[in-house]
Order: sequence, then C-alpha cells, then structure tokens
Amino acid sequence: MHDEVRSAALNPYLMAVEQFEAAADKLNLSEDMREILRQPKRELTVNFPVRLDSGRIKTFTGYRVQHNVNRGPAKGGIRYSPDVTLDEVKALAMWMTWKCAVVGIPFGGAKGGVICDPKHMSPGELERLTRRYATEISIVIGPHGDIPAPDINTNSQVMAWIMDTYSMHEGYSIPAVVTGKPLSIGGSEGRNDATATGVLFVTRQAAKRIGMPLQAARVSIQGYGNAGAIAARLFHNEGCKIVAVSDTSGGIYNESGLDPAAILRFKQERGSVIGYPNTLQVGVQDVLEIPCDILIPAATEGVITAANADRVQARIISEAANGPTTPEADEILFKKGILIVPDILANAGGVTVSYFEWVQDLQSFFWGVEEITQKLEVLMNRAFAAVADKADLYSCDMRLAANMLAIARVAEATQVRGIYP
Ligand code: NAD
Repeated sequence: MHDEVRSAALNPYLMAVEQFEAAADKLNLSEDMREILRQPKRELTVNFPVRLDSGRIKTFTGYRVQHNVNRGPAKGGIRYSPDVTLDEVKALAMWMTWKCAVVGIPFGGAKGGVICDPKHMSPGELERLTRRYATEISIVIGPHGDIPAPDINTNSQVMAWIMDTYSMHEGYSIPAVVTGKPLSIGGSEGRNDATATGVLFVTRQAAKRIGMPLQAARVSIQGYGNAGAIAARLFHNEGCKIVAVSDTSGGIYNESGLDPAAILRFKQERGSVIGYPNTLQVGVQDVLEIPCDILIPAATEGVITAANADRVQARIISEAANGPTTPEADEILFKKGILIVPDILANAGGVTVSYFEWVQDLQSFFWGVEEITQKLEVLMNRAFAAVADKADLYSCDMRLAANMLAIARVAEATQVRGIYP
C-alpha cells in the first residue's frame, strides 16, 4: 500500500480561497464583497517566553485570527502543533465563518494556534504556555468578541486554564470566554461527543440520499482523537463495522471489524493504535484507500489530494477534519460519484454545541444532554437538507453548495450592516 505524507506545497489558505472563489463565481458576488470576505479581518501574531522544566526559557510563536464577525462574535478552536502556520490558521478561521453560517448559528469565524510539540512537553510546561498565550491573545478574545475552543492537541483542561487566566485578569469568573470546558466550570453536556455526533447525524442523511443502509456499512477513520475515536464509538453503536483506524504513528486494519472502545484503551496505555492484536498494520495514509463504504478523515488538512483521490474506494466521505480534501481531489471524487459531506457541514456539531455551551454560560442556566442532542440533530438535519437542496438545484457537489449557502448568508449580513463609517 502507498503511504504518502501530505504535500509540503499544500497551503490551506490558498485552498480555502480557491473554494471561496468557486462559490463566489457561482453566486456572482461583486469584487468589492470578495475583497472583504477573502481575507481575515484581524491577524494577531504573538511571540512569548515560557519557562521549561529544565530552567531554559523558550520563546514560542502563536496566532489568533478572526476572519469575519458580521453574523456574531468570532468563534474557533486553538491548535497546538509543530506544523501550525499563519496561513493554516487563516484558512481554519475562514472555514469557521462559513461553518457557523451553514448551520445558522450567530457566530463569525476565528482560529488560533501555537507552534509547539505538546507530546514532548510536561503538564506544567503546557499550563505555563497556555496561560501566557491566553494572556497574549486576551487583547482580542472575550465572551462577546471571540470565544476559543479545543482543536488538535488541546482539550477541556487547556480550556479551563484559558478561562481561569482570563478570569484572573478581569477579577471574576467569565466561563463564556471559552467553550469545551469541563462540566464543573460551566462546560456543556454533550460537548465532548458533539463533533462526532454531528458527523453521525449528517452521515445518516447522506446514506439515505444514496440509498445505502448504515447497518454493517464498513467505516475507515483517519485520526483517533476527539473527533475520530468518538466517531468510531458512535458509528460502531449505530451498527457499522469499523474496519480501519489510524493515528500519527500509522493505521490498523481488520476487515471483520474492530472494537473502538478496546482500541481507545490500548491507545491510552501504549500511546498509539499500532500493535493492537489481530490487525494488519498499514500506513497513516493507507486508511484513506482501504475498501470501505464510509471514509471519515478526522486528522488534519490536505490528506486527500490529486495523488491519492483516484484510489479512494468509499461511497461517502464525511469530513470530520477541517480541509482534508484539496480542490483537485474534490473534482476527481465527484467524477467517481463519491458523496462528500464537506467539513463545514460534517463537523459543525462541535461548534453548534459550543454555541449551546456559550448560551448556557451567558444565562447561567444549564440544559440536559437529551435536550442538547435533540437540538443538535434538528440543526444538523436542517443544514444537511438545505445544502442537499442547493446541490440538486445547481447540479454541483455538496462542498460548493455549502459554501454558496454560507457565503451568501455572510455577504447578506455584511451588506445589511453597511460599511462603517
Ligand atoms: P485530536 O488532537 O484530539 O486528535 C487528532 C488525531 O489525528 C490524533 O489521533 C492524531 O494522532 C491524528 N493526527 C494528527 N495529525 C495527523 C497527521 N498529520 N496524519 C495522521 N494523523 C494525524 O484533534 P481533534 O480535535 O480530534 O481534531 C481532528 C480534526 O477534527 C481537526 O481537523 C480538527 O480541526 C477537526 N475538528 C475538531 C473539532 C473538535 O471539536 N475537536 C471540531 C471540528 C473539527
């Protein structure tokens, strides 16, 4: 099997702009409006020192980008990774704007990131890095301006440190400054599972659309973190057969099906899914090409490209990750008749329950998990139906349809607010 690493030449921001232009063309959007929407409103770069356990003081670089806030406060995750770049954060911020618009929640788009390798940092170092980064970006974040959340290599503990740091500076607790917090400090029921739950809801609709039963459908998943591992559990509970999963070290495959809960325990003990008994070891990228019915990229951007799209065998691709498919690959997959549920729709369950968490924090009144799951399902199904209708109307793929829907909503908000001053 092939095992390519993602192309070094891939620039997620150029990819996001290309997707934007395609939808803008179809919408006949004016050049003036394109100029406003194709770049972020605000880009903050911070360089800040952190004391390491060794006594060394290392300076880290981080970013916070707000793409557009015409529909509401900026919203988006924070990523810790050695691969973070400003262009990646800009792309992710733009996708957040479209994502919030496509599901109809009143937020604009933002994203943050710190260039660091959290796998080689102690909990103390991570806490000091997080608190200093939160302080550096506190000039742009806030419960009514820009609300961060978890993304790759950040979790509810990191959100708790950000919330505490911000609150210490203000002098009182401000839970609504971040979402994805622990329940004990104003987190929401259902937030941890929300992204994967949303992926399941839209995949049910996608399967209906092509007349494919989910029962016994073979599922392959790239990435075994918050999005991927929880998706594996939920799809397994739905009656699907999880045939392959992977993490940064590689993938495992068994055509008879894997037990997601046992694999998670194995990964927690050993640090990787590799070596799980009775499986064939495959490469990180191989899980994308394995024979399956549903492919769930749940790792990172730019993994399905012109180089491997032809070898994808799934009938449905549900994008839990942001930006996993390049525009060239999109074209190839569309021609192959593969239904792609695009990232801005497929993984919008995370930000939707983040929105519920923010609303609950602001009103200091909390809802039960049934109410949250039910509200999430209504919003995801409504968004799927609106995107599918547009795709039918324009005979186009669901990514173009979702972008058209989202960009038209953001353009309308921009238009109706008017240009200040
Ligand atoms: P995570 O850190 O919990 O898990 C990431 C997983 O992907 C890990 O198993 C890691 O080993 C693997 N991975 C990372 N880089 C990889 C690479 N280059 N190749 C192969 N595997 C790789 O992160 P997460 O929160 O699950 O996020 C995964 C994706 O889902 C990201 O694209 C993220 O933006 C997107 N997403 C997450 C949320 C959320 O609520 N957490 C919401 C929407 C979208």
